[in-house]
Amino acid sequence: MGIRAFFKDRFGQITAMLGIAVITALSTLFVVQQYQEVRNQSAVIQTRVFRDGLAVDRDLALLASVLERTRAADVLSQDDLEEFGEALDFLYVRTESLKVGSAVDPNTAIRVAAVIFELLAIIEEADRLFAADLIGDLEATVNLRNKIDTASTSLLELVDVQFVLQNDAIETQIETLETLTFTSIFLLWVFAVITSASIFLFQRQLRTQAQRRKAEDKANFLAFYDSLTSLPNRIRFSDAASQLIDDQCEPIVFLFDLDDFKLVNDIHGHAAGDAVLARAAHCIRLWAEKLDGTPARLGGDEFAAAIPGPMSSMRIASVCEDLLREVTKPFEFEATQLQPKMSIGVASSSSIEADKVVDLAVLQKAADVALYHAKEQGKNTYAFYDADLAELAARRREIEIGIDEALRDDGFTLAYQPQVDMKTGQIKGFEALCRWTRDGQFISPGEFIPVAEATGQVVEIDLWGLRKSVQQVADWIRNGMCPVTISANLSPLHFRSDAIVGHVGEALRKSGLPPHLLTLEITESILIADMATVTATLEKLRRLGVRIALDDFGTGYSSLAYLRKLDVDYIKIDQSFVRDLEESDETQVILDALVDIAKGLKKMLVVEGVETESQAKIIRDLGCDYGQGYLWGKPLPVEDAQAMVPRVEDVMAEIQAS
Ligand code: C2E
Ligand code: CA
Ligand code: CA
Repeated sequence: MGIRAFFKDRFGQITAMLGIAVITALSTLFVVQQYQEVRNQSAVIQTRVFRDGLAVDRDLALLASVLERTRAADVLSQDDLEEFGEALDFLYVRTESLKVGSAVDPNTAIRVAAVIFELLAIIEEADRLFAADLIGDLEATVNLRNKIDTASTSLLELVDVQFVLQNDAIETQIETLETLTFTSIFLLWVFAVITSASIFLFQRQLRTQAQRRKAEDKANFLAFYDSLTSLPNRIRFSDAASQLIDDQCEPIVFLFDLDDFKLVNDIHGHAAGDAVLARAAHCIRLWAEKLDGTPARLGGDEFAAAIPGPMSSMRIASVCEDLLREVTKPFEFEATQLQPKMSIGVASSSSIEADKVVDLAVLQKAADVALYHAKEQGKNTYAFYDADLAELAARRREIEIGIDEALRDDGFTLAYQPQVDMKTGQIKGFEALCRWTRDGQFISPGEFIPVAEATGQVVEIDLWGLRKSVQQVADWIRNGMCPVTISANLSPLHFRSDAIVGHVGEALRKSGLPPHLLTLEITESILIADMATVTATLEKLRRLGVRIALDDFGTGYSSLAYLRKLDVDYIKIDQSFVRDLEESDETQVILDALVDIAKGLKKMLVVEGVETESQAKIIRDLGCDYGQGYLWGKPLPVEDAQAMVPRVEDVMAEIQAS
């Protein structure tokens, strides 16, 4: 393992710390020991033996000189006597001092002891001579002098030894001090390097740990929270809701779906879409927190909340209204006013059928059924899951399965509703409408088409209707009947699919129907896709030579701006207009304006749902081009429709006859 790697992990750091501790301990020991050594050395240096030895030697010399003088003069003057006494006293004191200072080095101690012994003998002798007044006595003096000389020699030897010892000691001390200094400096450096390395590594580890923790926090957040709205995500929501179920809190599950959110994105841009999502998320969060619940974003424009129950239906209705009020408050975004709309589906444990085990999947499914219902009710509202809705959901499921069977077993038929020319009253063509009878029971397209739209099955139904109707009219023409137009309904889902242009082209090719006889009926809901895609698809379809009709005009958005942008041939006025036509002047005024606009845009008007002659008269007077309704014929079985189409030869004969 490399040194970096070694230090990187905790083991490396602990080792570094231990290293510092060991070095500190060793160096302390070393310094203490060296200090002791130097102290011992200085004890040697500071010994009084050397100093006192020299002093004693001087005293001895003084004593000897007095003795010498006395011997030479043969008399002892009073001064000499005093000097002798004084020298003797000094000698005595210094000998005592030498005795005290001798106990340092065992070697020196023995030598010093020997010298002291000699000195004491001299002092004793001198004292005796002094006391017996024998100082001037030659023999005694010589004797004492000899002793003094011997002692002086021993003393000088001692001092010499002491001198050498002292020099040695000083040298050792200097060496020791040098070693001590250098070693200390070295250890200090090692210590500094190791300390800074460990501090650096430690800091780095702390930093990496902090970074890792931050990354982990972020990963955790992303795993459980939605990054755009910071709301808990699906996983987090499931955990929270399941916990409420486990805790027997009888949770209430709310599912939220923004209405026509795609339109916001398409018309105002994705930034505005994000702003609407953020705004809705904010409202849902505050609302859910007030109810001690968990809000969540499940994805796209779908949100959810799990709120601890139980709650009365009235209370649930009231909290739903509170939330809708908040979410649908208009707000400004980059100078555009946005007003989100939202549908809510609610399910609580008590609303689930008694024979079912209440778990999150069941609750969510139920809330989803309720949400679907809320959307069907016209959006921007809430629906509460109950037995009736459960029945509706079961019915939808049944229809869904039935549609699959019908598509497989040729269970659908087409009805043809005539469209007439308002000016001549002659038949122009037919709208093909899907019919389905299951087990002898008629199921209205008003019921099964929305289910098929929700499941995507509508694409298959449309395709089947398109092929069949186009083929039918082509067959009529081949069989000598007058050419009539045929209108086929295209669901937004089919219109938006990449296959649409291919499907239409193929139906025309296979049947041999002249393209201008085919009209495709689309609704404003195709605008759920962005405008550019819609125009591109329309353009491709028109290049095939078919006509386009904008169906159900007057319901939905019915924006005139769309009308100008959408390249269509016909505008089909919805039957709801015709219904009020006789009673409401206002509707007549609107219809009048619409005719003007349509003429201005060079589009033809088809009015649907005409049931009475008076309605037909008003429409004709307003200048509408074509009419469709029970007045001229209900959607008819193929044979009845066929009977309405004149044969070419009959028409020719009629012309010739006239
Ligand atoms: P739509 O395209 O607006 O079709 C016209 C509807 O009005 C038809 O209902 C027709 O029976 C009804 N209608 C026609 N004249 C009158 C009238 O004078 N008075 C009244 N009260 N009603 C009249 P239908 O056949 O029940 O179809 C309902 C809707 O189902 C259609 O509305 C269309 O949107 C959809 N649909 C039907 N067949 C298909 C299909 O093959 N594909 C697709 N995508 N949708 C279809
Ligand atoms: Ca239609
Ligand atoms: Ca219509």
